[in-house]
Amino acid sequence: MILSSSRVQLFHGPGQPFQMATAPLPDQLRRGEVLVQISLATICGSDLHTMDGRRSAPTPCVLGHEAVGHVIGSSRDGIATGQRVTWTLADSCGHCAPCSRWHLPQKCDHLFKYGHAAFSDGSGLNGCYASHIVLRPGTQIMPVPAALPDAVAAPANCALATIVNALETLPDPCERVLVQGMGLLGIYACAWLSHRGIREVYCDDLSPQRLSLVKEFGGIPLEPGTTPPEVDLVLEVTGSSAVIREGVKALRPGGHYVWVGMVHPETKLDLTGEAVLRKCLTIRGVHNYAPHHLADGLDFLAQNHTRLPFEKLTSPPLPLEQLNEGIELTRSRQWQRVAIQP
Ligand SMILES: [Zn+2]
Ligand SMILES: [Zn+2]
Repeated sequence: MILSSSRVQLFHGPGQPFQMATAPLPDQLRRGEVLVQISLATICGSDLHTMDGRRSAPTPCVLGHEAVGHVIGSSRDGIATGQRVTWTLADSCGHCAPCSRWHLPQKCDHLFKYGHAAFSDGSGLNGCYASHIVLRPGTQIMPVPAALPDAVAAPANCALATIVNALETLPDPCERVLVQGMGLLGIYACAWLSHRGIREVYCDDLSPQRLSLVKEFGGIPLEPGTTPPEVDLVLEVTGSSAVIREGVKALRPGGHYVWVGMVHPETKLDLTGEAVLRKCLTIRGVHNYAPHHLADGLDFLAQNHTRLPFEKLTSPPLPLEQLNEGIELTRSRQWQRVAIQP
């Protein structure tokens, strides 16, 4: 192997800046492992939860889980050097009950998640804010369609695949939807629902700037203070439990409510059981996704990336060395995703 070390940005704990470090590339890959040189990573909001201490992570560690890259070493059949790929953010065993019986590989008994593992674990190359990552044997690796720019493909393995999972089952009929929160998950939801032929996708967000994007992705922005019409489905992607009462109110009898955004502990609900059962509602919590959701997401991008302006959602790339600036830019909410290029 020509290169011998990887550049990484290390997270040392909440409130501390990232620090550049190097880590040796593995001399040998274990059976099933794949070494990827990262082309582009994007900063997901869940990393901000980790950085702010709302979610714990072993330290030091390499954060970052949304990325695309090129295979530079492979000990797995079917994955060849030179391929441009993305991968599932969860590595799972394939044998335990969540993997084999419950259809929830993302809840595997032996789960490993990229961007959430200690630097001392394995090769240390466990996250995407780095020049390289070592993918483990239980990770699904998928080729990225050639026409897709890196900036369009990078968020697929977290944000988009999660939305594909969240919207896999729709109520019957499903003609009107309310999407609460116009971060990247909300934008993908508009695009995915309009792709599936749903014409009325109402969108709610406190930020006029975020709402201004939704029309281009098939959504209908709700003016501040207006109530949506009665809908068949509500999707929560704000992360705020304050919207839940309004969502329940908007649903028709028999409607579905899907919760995706409230991934941190401060999500106590102000809701009565009566409000849910009298309307015969179905509530579904969605966390991450299974490999087929990522495959469907990549197909969807390949079919729609020339029709929908996905590229404008991602910032021009900053070099890996400027990750701290990239985090600040993410906090400014100027972009749906800030891109980092090793
Ligand atoms: Zn994420
Ligand atoms: Zn498992």
